[in-house]
Amino acid sequence: MKPVFNTPDWVLVALAERRQHNLMRRTITLDSAQTPHTRINNQAYTAFCSNDYLGLADHPDVIQALQLGALKYGVGGGSSHLVCGHLAPHQALEDALADWLGYDRVMLFSTGYMANLGVISALADKNRPVLQDKLNHASLIDGAMLAQASLRRYLHGDVVSAERLLAKSATPGLLVTDGVFSMDGDVAPLLELSRLARQHEWMFMVDDAHGLGCLGEQGKGCLSLSGLNANSLPILVGTFGKAFGTAGAFVATSHDYAEYLTQFARPYVYTTSMSPAIASATLASLQIIQSAEGQDRRERLARHIEYFRQRVQSLPVELMPSNTAIQPIIVGDSKAALDIGEQLKTLGIWCTAIRPPTVPVGRARLRITLSAAHSDDDLVLLCDSLEKVLTATL
Ligand SMILES: *Cc1c(COP(=O)(O)O)cnc(C)c1O
Repeated sequence: MKPVFNTPDWVLVALAERRQHNLMRRTITLDSAQTPHTRINNQAYTAFCSNDYLGLADHPDVIQALQLGALKYGVGGGSSHLVCGHLAPHQALEDALADWLGYDRVMLFSTGYMANLGVISALADKNRPVLQDKLNHASLIDGAMLAQASLRRYLHGDVVSAERLLAKSATPGLLVTDGVFSMDGDVAPLLELSRLARQHEWMFMVDDAHGLGCLGEQGKGCLSLSGLNANSLPILVGTFGKAFGTAGAFVATSHDYAEYLTQFARPYVYTTSMSPAIASATLASLQIIQSAEGQDRRERLARHIEYFRQRVQSLPVELMPSNTAIQPIIVGDSKAALDIGEQLKTLGIWCTAIRPPTVPVGRARLRITLSAAHSDDDLVLLCDSLEKVLTATL
């Protein structure tokens, strides 16, 4: 039967171009939980590309908290937080996070993407510009677009470049950076950026999606690693989809900012609250992160990172200046990155190649991520396999 609507040519052209440049993306279905030992197409792989850095995504305590939360509070939030979708587990999680990180208030969002859209679109506008690191996450860039604010980007991790642009701006605005850069794994110069923002009377916001749970004292992330607090970092975004092993996000901030965001952050106001069962599960994750078990997991992760870097040092590849769970191996060409990924697959290793536009053109890579859930043997297998594949290919 002839379809009623033909696909417009420009859609097919865009797809053909992506295919031609080896930039086509597709979803892959896992037949197992999100653990390092996955099953894909009836084949077992050891995976090194998940953001479940502490191995909490299938932790029994987290699963049980989700089940109990659902039994008591149901699955659906039912409405936005401001109508009748703010349930006791949401409040308990907000209070626990605010207490842990030392902020007046915490507000939950359904995803990190939405938290960043919400905060930036509420705080920036045509007269309040946004200044961002060149390698900031896409959701931070998109937040500035939603705000219809002028957006300038400084050189990656470069405080001098940031200062030059700040000084040029006619009005103060919002300075925003990733805490840990999602594709490179390095940490932003947060203390210097905080000072800069204060000097120029700019607002300062950090998205610590990859630091929270993993870095700093008690896993408090970049905040504690860089010696910042609620005064020197007034707007902190964290996400639950990574080290927390659940889903959703939050902003930790002052009473005044929280009141303001509650009124004006449209991606907060006009969306259903996260599932109360997820909020219950996330509270259990937080308790693990704060406990001695959390500390053990962080230490195991740190040992894996150290072992990995020491092994890969001798290979013919560019190793990034990262001490975090994100350990990219820069390949450059997209096709070459895909090929290396395929060869690793034949050795039982799963690591999805990351290509433009997620990373700059010519900087395609294997974004290897390590987890406390990996065993020492997993790390040996990874490094042996990389040695085989990389010395043969590059
Ligand atoms: C993953 C990520 C996000 C988005 O968080 P989600 O909860 O997955 O939507 C935001 N910022 C950074 C830096 C991230 O890495």
